[in-house]
Amino acid sequence: MAERFVKLIPCLPTYRVNVKAAEQAAEALRRLVRAEEITVRQTERPEFVDCGGALTEIRCPKCGAALDLDWWGGVMDRMYRESHFFLLEETMPCCGKTVNFNNLRYVRPCGFSCLEFTLREPEGEAGKEAADLLSERFGVLFRQVEARV
Ligand SMILES: [Zn+2]
Repeated sequence: MAERFVKLIPCLPTYRVNVKAAEQAAEALRRLVRAEEITVRQTERPEFVDCGGALTEIRCPKCGAALDLDWWGGVMDRMYRESHFFLLEETMPCCGKTVNFNNLRYVRPCGFSCLEFTLREPEGEAGKEAADLLSERFGVLFRQVEARV
């Protein structure tokens, strides 16, 4: 059976905290939020946090056009190669506007992050509660990326 994971990531892809602060925040989540398991991980460089399933549709946030997924994949490869996702801006083929890939309209929310808290099998509104708690604690907005794997 597929397991449900909700990941909480800050809206700033390069946002990092010290190890102790991250672990204390995970402890606070474990006390206040109901889930089978709550973990935290941090990386030196932003990683793409995806929704687990197929990304069948990604749209431009400026004009709403559906992106060619091969084009998107090629840009992702190049961004990773050139900057390890530190630089996420790209000129869009649809409307010529500059867009940050962290703000693309993915079919289900995805994002880039160095810091991720993961709730395994959260109950009820646990994902939202966790996002609120982390946003308040760190003073930066956290959002949910949900995946079934
Ligand atoms: Zn566009």
